[in-house]
Amino acid sequence: MKLPGRSSLERKLGLRVGAGLAAFAVVAVLLTAAFAYRYQLQASRALQRQLISVVSTQAEVAVFAENAIIANGVIDGLLANPLLLAVRIRSNQGFVASGGQIATFADANAFTSYALHAPSNPTVTIGQIDVVMNSEQVTAAALTSTQILLATITLQVILAAVLIVWVSRRVIIRPIVELASHLAEIEPGSGVRVAVSDKHEDDEIGQLSRSANALIDAHEYALAELRALATIDSLTGTSNRREFIRRMEDELVRIQRLESARATILMLDIDHFKNINDTHGHAAGDAALMQLGTILRSNARRIDTVGRIGGEEFAILLVSTDVSQGAHFAERLRTIVAETPVAYEGRLIQMTMSIGITELAQSDGDSTVALARADKALYLAKDQGRNCVVATPI
Ligand code: GH3
Ligand code: MG
Ligand code: MG
Repeated sequence: MKLPGRSSLERKLGLRVGAGLAAFAVVAVLLTAAFAYRYQLQASRALQRQLISVVSTQAEVAVFAENAIIANGVIDGLLANPLLLAVRIRSNQGFVASGGQIATFADANAFTSYALHAPSNPTVTIGQIDVVMNSEQVTAAALTSTQILLATITLQVILAAVLIVWVSRRVIIRPIVELASHLAEIEPGSGVRVAVSDKHEDDEIGQLSRSANALIDAHEYALAELRALATIDSLTGTSNRREFIRRMEDELVRIQRLESARATILMLDIDHFKNINDTHGHAAGDAALMQLGTILRSNARRIDTVGRIGGEEFAILLVSTDVSQGAHFAERLRTIVAETPVAYEGRLIQMTMSIGITELAQSDGDSTVALARADKALYLAKDQGRNCVVATPI
């Protein structure tokens, strides 16, 4: 059995898992980026405070002494860190020293200010140190960590999608596709069923297979019933007229194809059947028809066809049989019927039949031509006094 490359179930699963995980990845990346930026900002502020606290004593001395050399030393030291873009030290008395890109930041909001206290008395503010943080540096650092996280999450999402699809394919989709393809291959009436392997004995695939088999059973049973209804005469168990003619047509095709093939048709009619009905009742007539059906079916071979083609008229198609062999068979049947009275409600009803015979000929345009010939022979038998067999030439 061949499995399709990609089943539609698998495609759907792949698309949905992919879309779901991609949506998850987008949300995760957005949240991560926001958190990364906030974290980076907080870390930078903490570092800035730390830097200021390291230099604050020196800055306080510079402001207290209004010493530009010390102040510039502090400023240069702070600017050595790429986190700070500009630094300014001012005293309350008007002393100012600055460095970095101080001219670029006219807006007071850009600065973060830290108070400077008198070296001798920490409660007295004598000036302040203003710094401008390098926000580009903060953004860049946040971006870098976001990119690393993005790559990690993407990789995880791809791995998760592949794993989910792979496991689902092995555990669910492949067995379903196999079951579907088994079912599609089963011809109703073939007797073939879905095999349930040990590994699916207790799971849903096993249940589905068993349910499918039960449905096929029911379907085949209904089909057989229907076929029987359409082809079998319910009273006598023989083929009905339509089925008998169909079999004759098949046989005629075979004969016309095969030079050596032979088939003979018997047409049988119960003698004075009306009398049986009139004397013993219609039910007795039915019993006689049933008995005749049984005799004919049990004496014909499996390859032959016995059909009820009228009220009390039957026909038999004898394959691979010529007229003289057919006549022997007809004579045997005639004798059996004549010697087997019908037992009905304690009575024994005598019954005989007349038989006409003809061979199914290659020259017959269709099988009913041969049937009409057999009918003619039958009426000759009736004319000759009934309870006899007459063969007619082609
Ligand atoms: P012959 O020897 O010339 O064949 O005489 P016959 O009485 O058998 O012929 P005829 O065709 O006159 O009568 C056939 C009778 O068969 C008439 C009909 O009521 C009866 N018949 C047809 N079908 C059935 C059936 O299913 N059950 C019963 N009980 N009788 C049936
Ligand atoms: Mg008749
Ligand atoms: Mg009759």
